[in-house]
Amino acid sequence: MQEALTYEPEIWRREAACERLGVPTGVFFSDDIGDIVHAKNICAGCPVLESCLEGAIRRREPWGVWGGQLFRNGHILANKRRRGRPSKVPRPEEQLPVVPIPVRIQQELLSA
Ligand code: SF4
Repeated sequence: MQEALTYEPEIWRREAACERLGVPTGVFFSDDIGDIVHAKNICAGCPVLESCLEGAIRRREPWGVWGGQLFRNGHILANKRRRGRPSKVPRPEEQLPVVPIPVRIQQELLSA
């Protein structure tokens, strides 16, 4: 991705839901399923989701929730399992919310 961010970083950080809501940074960098769900839900309503996600993809973020997506080792994970033996029937609280990737970014990912 070589296009410029939709907003300048200083501007979009001011608009960021995580900044405006004063959410502790640790929520976005946690291994706890509940924290990850919380972070993704905050991102889902963030007005700068697209810029945030675009930057995280470009930087190949090693860890955390960025732009509504869970990153591990520079890749977007669709889901995450709790530690230990998986339950036979998935618990509702273990289902990560699906935050859609903006179409423009999906197209860029496919063409990369
Ligand atoms: S998309 Fe999520 S991590 Fe990115 S600025 Fe918005 S709330 Fe913060």
